Amino acid sequence: DTVLSLSGITKTYNEDTPGEIRVLRGANLSIAKGEVVALVAPSGSGKSTLLHIAGLLDAADAGEVSINGQKMDGQSDRRRTATRRNEVGFVYQFHHLLPEFTALENIVLPQLANGVGERAARDHALELMARVGVDTRASHRPAELSGGEQQRVAFCRALANRPALLLADEPTGNLDPDTAETVFSALMELVRDTGLSALIATHNLELAARMDRTLRLEGGEIL
Ligand code: ADP
Ligand code: ADP
Repeated sequence: DTVLSLSGITKTYNEDTPGEIRVLRGANLSIAKGEVVALVAPSGSGKSTLLHIAGLLDAADAGEVSINGQKMDGQSDRRRTATRRNEVGFVYQFHHLLPEFTALENIVLPQLANGVGERAARDHALELMARVGVDTRASHRPAELSGGEQQRVAFCRALANRPALLLADEPTGNLDPDTAETVFSALMELVRDTGLSALIATHNLELAARMDRTLRLEGGEIL
């Protein structure tokens, strides 16, 4: 079972201007169910662009994106939005939690938006939080949490709607090495427990070595 497939993805910014930059030049990749894949790429090589296209946040110029075996090209915006919300979880280098809500509320809200009842959303959020050791911080606002705790809450939020695919862009890139190690281990455990597929961009080759497979993005192609 293939959860994510990218085929012949191209993307050019500022086309036909002096600032034209061909970021992706026919990128292909495929991620099976339960597979955790590292994406190693120098900065500026287009990894954020690739993750955004994979997660339906941005459109490719050409090529095909399939999620859970369904081609996304030519689908309506509404359908793409629904797939993104239900099947894809995102984590970034910075947590991007809503500052005025508690940690718990940050994980509950996306579930309410997807039609889950309040009680079930709360129970599920607390269960996710317990698995990565932040359930005791449920009623705190993001600013009251440490960097590692903020990222753990962000992982819970990404998984709140039980996606099939996790896309992460340097999820531990903003943490000191020790915290990065603990937080990465927590993420891996959560991913393995839920049988999720993941594409995780990192500069850290030690972390990459702990995933199932490493892909390199170079010259706009996946090697
Ligand atoms: P990475 O995540 O590997 O650092 P990005 O995908 O963010 O790379 O960017 C790849 C290249 O595309 C960079 O040179 C960046 O400046 C350029 N780029 C990214 N987004 C845009 C945009 N919206 N408009 C113009 N250029 C962009
Ligand atoms: P975004 O998260 O991209 O801002 P919006 O909330 O603006 O998405 O949604 C875009 C459009 O798609 C809106 O008209 C919204 O009502 C519709 N939409 C989004 N998700 C769903 C869904 N799961 N079912 C039906 N319509 C949806």
